[in-house]
Amino acid sequence: HNHIDHATPEKVRAAIAAGDTHAHLPDYEGFDAYAAAGGYAVLKGLRAGGDWEAVQDSVLAAGLRGLGGAGFPSGRKWGFVRANPGPRYLAVNGDEGEPGTFKDRYYLERVPHLFLEGMLIAAWAVEAETCYIYMRDEYPAVLEILRREIAALEAAGIVAKGYIDLRRGAGAYICGEESAMIESIEGKRGLPRHRPPFVAQVGLFGRPTLVHNIETLHWVARVCREGPEVLNSIEKNGRKGLRSYSVSGRVARPGVHLLPAGSTIRDVIAAAGGMAAGHVFKAYQPGGPSSGLLPASMDDIPLDFDTLQPHGSFIGSAAVVVLSQQDSARDAALNMLRFFEDESCGQCTPCRAGCEKAVKLMQAEHWDQPLLEELCQVMADASICGLGQAAPNPIRLTMKHFAEEI
Ligand code: SF4
Repeated sequence: HNHIDHATPEKVRAAIAAGDTHAHLPDYEGFDAYAAAGGYAVLKGLRAGGDWEAVQDSVLAAGLRGLGGAGFPSGRKWGFVRANPGPRYLAVNGDEGEPGTFKDRYYLERVPHLFLEGMLIAAWAVEAETCYIYMRDEYPAVLEILRREIAALEAAGIVAKGYIDLRRGAGAYICGEESAMIESIEGKRGLPRHRPPFVAQVGLFGRPTLVHNIETLHWVARVCREGPEVLNSIEKNGRKGLRSYSVSGRVARPGVHLLPAGSTIRDVIAAAGGMAAGHVFKAYQPGGPSSGLLPASMDDIPLDFDTLQPHGSFIGSAAVVVLSQQDSARDAALNMLRFFEDESCGQCTPCRAGCEKAVKLMQAEHWDQPLLEELCQVMADASICGLGQAAPNPIRLTMKHFAEEI
């Protein structure tokens, strides 16, 4: 129902700078329409005397988990952050750099105020002094929408000027890792930190910090408004809740498809209109390149948190890429490792040197599997952050399921 502009970020940026915003902004729900339909009533009610623990209970009952990919129960984070004395901060991870992931953009280009209200509810719950939004700069239309709508919130007196600080990323994938994002907001190079201490204890500017993904906050607003049933009443294949799958690759209708969390790849492909003409389903990436590739024969696994781990994969941010008989699993895995090689921050040797060595080994006509497995083990065991720890997944899964190609 929305006009989504397919112009390049450069074109959109130039048009916005020239004042020609209308042509390049999607037809989203602005502040007036959102408020007229009851928006911000929940926030106002809570601020007037709500009980944060009741809201936390509701978020926990909904089963809401971190939708940036880590899947940590959202309500529990609030308790960890509140356990530390203020001042506290809220940092929103809008870096959405996982290849194949575009669900945050999808929601921000349609209903940005669900996210903004969810953010302000979470900020209220942990008594955050300031909300920082770290937004992907490759989404210029989203940045413009947020600039306008934050100004509308200030004008309406819902937030004080400067309470929401909108920051732009600069294209580094690693800045989507929460501690690297915090470094970046502080004005430093985006290098992941060692943990502990966790960001809930020592985060932004050394203060306790609540970090949430955009879509997580979208659902916080919906849970507060519609009750935990909006998520926990939906059940499929023994799993509860909903997932926003970003679907791309060889399907007829790529896009964001909101489905029960217990959906299998067959359900996801069906929601995306089936396979594209002339393509036969061969393999899929369930959740970003770190999740590697699974063969079409493994088509009965619910694509949810925890269900893919026994298979050496995970759902992450639910970025599903569908491959067909026209694609090479080997090439796809090599492409994933090239991406990690490019995006490794270089801070630790197992990841910096490991990704580079892996790419070299994967370019050989025949993969040296024992050596690759040894390398995978070192990277998984000894890397500082998730990038290096999960980079072996595409290698291992390709060796296991697509042996004939390597
Ligand atoms: Fe940087 Fe990779 Fe180490 Fe993460 S694992 S800190 S990206 S070098």
